[in-house]
Amino acid sequence: MFDFSVEPEFQAKLDWIKAFLKEEVEALDVLFPHVAHIYNPEHKASRAILKPLQEEVRRQGLWACHLGEELGGKGYGQVKLALMNEILGQSRWAPTVFGTAAPDTGNAEILAMFGTKEQKERYLQPLLDGEIVSCFSMTEPQAGSDPGEFKVTAVRDGDHYVINGEKWFSSNARYAAFMLTIAVTDPDAPLRSRMSMFVVPKETPGLKFIRNAPYMGEFTEELSTEGYLHYDNVRIPVDHMLGGEGQGFAVAQARLGGGRVHHAMRTVGTCQRALDMMCERALSRRTRGKQLSEMQLVQNDIAQSYIELEQFRLLVLKTAWIIDNAHDDPRKAVTHIAMCKVVAGKISQDIVTRALHLHGSLGATHELPLADMYMSAPTMGIADGPTEVHISTVAKRLLRNYTPVDTLFPSEHLPPKVAKARARYADVLKEHLPAE
Ligand SMILES: Cc1cc2nc3c(=O)[nH]c(=O)nc-3n(C[C@H](O)[C@H](O)[C@H](O)COP(=O)(O)OP(=O)(O)OC[C@H]3O[C@@H](n4cnc5c(N)ncnc54)[C@H](O)[C@@H]3O)c2cc1C
Repeated sequence: MFDFSVEPEFQAKLDWIKAFLKEEVEALDVLFPHVAHIYNPEHKASRAILKPLQEEVRRQGLWACHLGEELGGKGYGQVKLALMNEILGQSRWAPTVFGTAAPDTGNAEILAMFGTKEQKERYLQPLLDGEIVSCFSMTEPQAGSDPGEFKVTAVRDGDHYVINGEKWFSSNARYAAFMLTIAVTDPDAPLRSRMSMFVVPKETPGLKFIRNAPYMGEFTEELSTEGYLHYDNVRIPVDHMLGGEGQGFAVAQARLGGGRVHHAMRTVGTCQRALDMMCERALSRRTRGKQLSEMQLVQNDIAQSYIELEQFRLLVLKTAWIIDNAHDDPRKAVTHIAMCKVVAGKISQDIVTRALHLHGSLGATHELPLADMYMSAPTMGIADGPTEVHISTVAKRLLRNYTPVDTLFPSEHLPPKVAKARARYADVLKEHLPAE
């Protein structure tokens, strides 16, 4: 059934990635803790360090491994990607160094699936080559998790669409070469056919960058990437629509599924790093004449963290396995992807909080990576849709496998079962239990 083992050649690649992160990528992590630097062309130092590392990754044949072979990737599939992303998740810069950073990964997939030949040449290839960055522009100031509340409109005018409204938390907006923007094209249509997706080149007149919203841990606008945008009569040629009118919801979903599971894979890595730090600290610190590791309450935190992490890791791997084995119908994995998203939002908070707590005052400083991990943890339960929405998806999809009973009592009600069993074995019961 499920087999998550890999051949020795791939294991050698995983070992290489682990060593490369420690020996090379860690320098970027500690020198430039905010990856946003890379998007600012003025930050030449981080780019100068980054470029040779990306070249080395290419030489090793490990660049953009999430892509299928037709797009220059390795076509490894999701199980191998999960094992790889678990390692990459231990470093802030690793996804950029390995060409697997969001939102570019999902945006590249959309362009590959729905873009014209010209759009692929102009945007997809430079994106795959790591020469430009892109932006996914869906959330609005008044609505994020409910697309039914989106107000940005795109109205057909001859051979153009005219886009108007505001978008919020559009990651990378300031330095992106293009936006993938979702807009309402038919307000009266049912939700799933109300919106369409457009490629909006950054230089299009009327597209105004208002500011970045610095989110947890970023502190200043310069360090942040989450853009607030105005679309003010932005005219886009009709061939810049991706996937046809009314298909925007489906196009967005095609992108978000992969993105969510990749976030979950990296979260396994973040949690493993926090657990490793917790174990090292427990063995190194003494209090009341004992190692911390000898205190039962500390053992409880370590054991709980490991149990939860192993459960999560197996869930992520099983989800990856389902995706790899569901080529005919990618929706087979939707419930499991939602489960991964729910757990990712919780487990990083739980394990990182325990690790930080065990390091006492030191844990609360920026002399360790834990404070940074702690500040990012709650966003795992918000980005790509809040936890509540994914819980609801899991429940609704699970319930589809069940039917209501038309009897007064549930189908597992024991009295009728007992009566049936008694009737079936009436002779035996009469012979051996005469008192009855
Ligand atoms: C780090 C980060 C990066 C992001 N990058 C992008 C990006 O590149 N592009 C983009 O378009 N967006 C991006 N987002 C935005 C993200 O998609 C939205 O934040 C998310 O969809 C939630 O929308 P909202 O913030 O408007 O919250 P709301 O929709 O207002 O939800 C707020 C809260 O209300 C509750 N709630 C909502 N719905 C339900 C429900 N059905 N049942 C019960 N409770 C509910 C939950 O507690 C939820 O957390 C990013 C967000 C983060 C944190």
